[in-house]
Amino acid sequence: PGKVAVLFLDLDNFKFINDTLGHRAGDKLLQVIAQRLATVLRPSDTIARLGGDEFVLLLEDLHEEDAARRVAIRILEQMGMPVELAGQPVYVTASIGIALTDDPWLHPDELIRRADLAMYEAKRLGRDRYALFDGYMEALAWRRLEIECGLRKAIEQRELRVHFQPVVELRTGALREVEALVRWPHPERGMLQPDEFLPVAEESGLILLIDRLVLEEACRQLRDWQLQYPANRNLVVSVNLSTKQLREPGMLESVTSVLDRTGLQPEHLRIEISERAVTWDLATALDQLHALRALGIRLALDDFGSGHAAIAALRRLPIDTLKIDRTLVGALGKSERDTTLVQAVISLAKILGLTVTAEGIESPEQARQLRTFGCDFGQGTYFGGPMPAEEFAQYLSTDFSDLLQIR
Ligand code: C2E
Ligand code: MG
Ligand code: MG
Repeated sequence: PGKVAVLFLDLDNFKFINDTLGHRAGDKLLQVIAQRLATVLRPSDTIARLGGDEFVLLLEDLHEEDAARRVAIRILEQMGMPVELAGQPVYVTASIGIALTDDPWLHPDELIRRADLAMYEAKRLGRDRYALFDGYMEALAWRRLEIECGLRKAIEQRELRVHFQPVVELRTGALREVEALVRWPHPERGMLQPDEFLPVAEESGLILLIDRLVLEEACRQLRDWQLQYPANRNLVVSVNLSTKQLREPGMLESVTSVLDRTGLQPEHLRIEISERAVTWDLATALDQLHALRALGIRLALDDFGSGHAAIAALRRLPIDTLKIDRTLVGALGKSERDTTLVQAVISLAKILGLTVTAEGIESPEQARQLRTFGCDFGQGTYFGGPMPAEEFAQYLSTDFSDLLQIR
């Protein structure tokens, strides 16, 4: 008997098209896609819409695994042609998961579930591609679920912690800012770093709760310090926000209400948006960024040079600060070209009237060189890593001029 394959297809940017061009355009898009899918299939194959922008294709009586792959490739090619919507050409891409079997007893739901998992993997690998189901995806899915459940519980029980890292003015050695960074003290696995749970938080939407929690705690803590240590009354706290948060309709109100509740002035809050999060559909978040800026809140473009939409982001975002990614800082002194590149990025920011902060400074040479290049602020383990608030207090009454050999 031949094999059976299920292809699970999900459009990559359907929600965005629906939101910006309207539901009528969204409906038309789905019709066009359905027609294109039909042209790829044989008469014996079945196509169904599972809901939203999800389609399931059933290919029966396949003689080889490659046949399913070829169908997926043809579908992706079909997607490449623009669709005329609301008078303009719109480009869509799709992610496809494939599950195959020659076991006649395998439940169809199970086959669809496997294809769905594979589709998820295709998304994770960067979208606009297909992935074939593999057993390891099962393990990954379990792990994601475990993290998600644990995280949800940790949020409810207020177990997440905020650590603070000093940001130093390189010219004077004075403490000017603190960056708030989330931590999860996991009951079994110890202190978890953001990269171990933020991806799951982003996918599940839990990031919205986390960001709000960190924002509130960071503002409250900074206000405390300003009151306790009058010498630090101009200290600024920097908080990372996910772009999901920026697209939330209530985001602006929730930021203002945190400022009201904690009594922190807007100019003492900086919000950081990662360069990695700046995609072409950031347009929806631009209004929110302008509104934040109008309130007097400072904005930084984070992780600059980590290699995505750098220049586009510089052109479009109402930022006042550029944070140079630590991979660039780490390249300082590696070769003449690397060093010149860092210098050029600093000059570029200055020409645009932006303040520059370098991340990931680990050595005195890096600090010295960045200062010579005119970089305004620096942050890194050389000055101090992220730490709990109690520990941070010691930095509030000292400065870093010794580390910069000033005086
Ligand atoms: P980021 O905003 O670029 O934060 C700087 C990261 O560099 C932090 O990693 C910090 O611990 C690390 N770092 C600082 N100095 C050094 C150094 O000298 N050497 C090295 N190798 N690393 C250094 P962390 O805390 O693991 O955070 C990773 C990322 O997670 C952050 O990158 C930020 O994008 C995200 N993140 C952290 N907290 C939050 C949050 O509350 N909300 C959101 N949305 N994202 C967050
Ligand atoms: Mg940051
Ligand atoms: Mg960064």
